[in-house]
Amino acid sequence: MNLRNLFLQNVAQTSANPVSIQVKKAKGIYITDIDGKKYIDLISGISVSNLGHRNQAVIKAIRKQTSKYLHTMVYGEHIQFPQVRLAQLISSLLPPTLNSVYFTNSGAEAVEGAIKLAKKYTGRNKICALKNAYHGSTHGALSLMDNEYFTQAFRPLLPFVSYIDTSKITELNKIDKETACVIIEIVQSEAGYIPLSNDFLKALKERCNETGCLLVIDEIQTGMGRTGSMFAFEKTEITPDILLLAKGFGGGMPLGCFVAEVKIMKCLSENPVLGHITTFGGHPVSCAASIATFEEIISKKLFEKIERKEMLFRKFLNHHEIVNITGKGLLLGVHLKSEEKVFETVEKCKQNGLLIDWFLLNSSALRLAPPLVITEGEIKKVCNMILETFE
Ligand code: PLP
Repeated sequence: MNLRNLFLQNVAQTSANPVSIQVKKAKGIYITDIDGKKYIDLISGISVSNLGHRNQAVIKAIRKQTSKYLHTMVYGEHIQFPQVRLAQLISSLLPPTLNSVYFTNSGAEAVEGAIKLAKKYTGRNKICALKNAYHGSTHGALSLMDNEYFTQAFRPLLPFVSYIDTSKITELNKIDKETACVIIEIVQSEAGYIPLSNDFLKALKERCNETGCLLVIDEIQTGMGRTGSMFAFEKTEITPDILLLAKGFGGGMPLGCFVAEVKIMKCLSENPVLGHITTFGGHPVSCAASIATFEEIISKKLFEKIERKEMLFRKFLNHHEIVNITGKGLLLGVHLKSEEKVFETVEKCKQNGLLIDWFLLNSSALRLAPPLVITEGEIKKVCNMILETFE
């Protein structure tokens, strides 16, 4: 039986129509299949490969760490250099109130940890999320999604969650003195890369201050330089109480984290002890890859070039089929006239060797989240490839 049939039979399927490229290797912005066909990856494995695939510094760091040790003990017990160095590095890049890092395996686990931390620290049980949000697929993270289609089969989910409509400031009254935390993305990813307005963000932070509710910012897609600064919140006037990272954070290895002030984080170690437990969270190889990723982003000044690259995408993607381009930096939602056109364009691009994608919660937009290392010449080329599919 060929590999494709085995994939369909033995690897659990969650989609009727998986992309099904048989990957042979990946390097930079390219993925090559077993027949030698090269695809330009314009989605970075959904905002993961920010440095492109198999960045040499990241590979070197992984090799170096594997020559020393892999897993030695569950999270938080042994002192492992890559974890300590990474936590110190992250804290040095953040405001002083974000100085304690809890490492997880994934984004959803970071979300779970953050919700638990907020409930424990505040002693409150209500949570607010935003309409059209996506924060992951585990029970707690899924509870933060107001979408009936994706949630109804899995009820009951977490109780006491309410959803804020970001177009109405009055909706912020849903945050009250019983709310433990409100969780947001600065650019709402699965909604089609829709940035929140500064006015909304400022009013939200004020409401958090008034009520004593913690602000959790999910930078799982927006972080690691993708929107033109290391973290998207840096270009706003607000600072999170808890910051979440994952996806590109591991440089292609599985890693996530939630970051808060030591005095908040401390409550996970008492009454009960071990307030969040993970076996593999902060795996030393993933942490080594993450350190190399941060160092590459910083030394190559990658995020300083993002604004210009965004501008080029916006300039070249000029066509009557495109009604709007939303997003920030290299997180771009290309909104088309019709939903049918989205699936048709994704398919035609794939045939022509270009990987783009659609969104969970917006069926009329194309997702573009290329590796940040994409060059200006490559941007022109891929935009032409997209426009050609409209002819
Ligand atoms: N938060 C956001 C904004 C995401 O886009 C995702 C995943 O797509 C998650 C959380 C969950 O991350 P993971 O898939 O690593 O659990």
